[in-house]
Amino acid sequence: MTNAERIYLDWNATAPLLPEARTALLDGLALQGNASSVHREGRAARAAIDAARRQVAEFVGADAAHVFFSAGATESANHVLTPDFRMGRSAVRLGGLFVSAIEHPAVREGGRFDARQEVPVGPDGIVRLDALEAMLATHDRSAGPAMVAIMAANSETGIIQPVAEAARIVHAHGGLIVVDAVQAVGRLPVSIEALGADFLILSSHKIGGPKGVGALVTRGETLMPAPLIRGGGHEKGHRSGTENIAGIMGFGAASAFASRDPAERNGRIEALRTRLEAGMRAAAADVVIIGEGGPRLPNTTCFMLPALKAETGQIAFDLEGIALSAGSACSSGKVGESHVLKAMGLDPRLGALRISLGWETDEASVDRAIAAFARIAARRRLPVAAV
Ligand code: PLP
Repeated sequence: MTNAERIYLDWNATAPLLPEARTALLDGLALQGNASSVHREGRAARAAIDAARRQVAEFVGADAAHVFFSAGATESANHVLTPDFRMGRSAVRLGGLFVSAIEHPAVREGGRFDARQEVPVGPDGIVRLDALEAMLATHDRSAGPAMVAIMAANSETGIIQPVAEAARIVHAHGGLIVVDAVQAVGRLPVSIEALGADFLILSSHKIGGPKGVGALVTRGETLMPAPLIRGGGHEKGHRSGTENIAGIMGFGAASAFASRDPAERNGRIEALRTRLEAGMRAAAADVVIIGEGGPRLPNTTCFMLPALKAETGQIAFDLEGIALSAGSACSSGKVGESHVLKAMGLDPRLGALRISLGWETDEASVDRAIAAFARIAARRRLPVAAV
């Protein structure tokens, strides 16, 4: 099978590099200056970074001064999830970390906090605001303000979280809220102001930019986490190390693309998702679509087929030429028990598969996915080796 015959339906894992991001990357590689240098070459590099900063800021309704580039969302999560904050020159100690039970491991691991408490989600996969409220009500504020992390949309299921409501609760209790917006941006309108988030975590490669670049976006600069990476004082002292100019420029270009006509693009993608799910249901009436009927990202379908293991299903689709994910695939590619399904009260060993679409997906690829699904569903009771 040639690459041209393959169908890529794993956009939540990573999106293909956009042509404009590739051009920006190459332009960045051609810039020879160090952005910290005062000569013309250095100033050109600085100007390119600042232009990308404006593009990312505009994308999420932030001030460009409040975008801090990093080597990806995982790094930004580790930067911001710390009890050690600064208000100007004074140290501020946070008193505890609360993370939703469905966070990506980048956040769920708790960064530089020694411990964290999990805020449960309901069977609908949505974080329980009543539980959040109760947990914050018993938080001992004399230990310092609480930090809460709730993702804007879940990567496995696409289920959208009530972040703005959560932010109001967190602020009413004097806490700070961090929002992992990695999967939501480009698919939903995301504005740091509208969400009321104190910090947003972004990743370039989920929106068609290069891998290994991300950002921490803040609402102000008064209260900032202690740096994770110290050194020469880059990014106003918040993230040292010579900037990845090409990567940052690619991220900026991808943000500009995602800011253009998102409603039209996402409407088209959602219509394809509807077509996909209708086709799947017609082929196997017992398919379970997780989060169906609730608020979901327009591009994501997380489903389970009784008697089909996630690992088996993933391989079967791959042999059909279709790249998708087992919802709980970890970085090693092994399918583990999904903490997301478990948090929703589902049997974490059940095999959930995730199809995620993007701007290159067309009807023909969806129809091929439906046909493959129908074949796999029809064979699923056969021994694994025959699937
Ligand atoms: N947060 C979410 C929701 C993600 O889906 C991912 C990537 O899988 C990350 C964080 C980590 O992003 P990065 O690959 O930029 O470190």
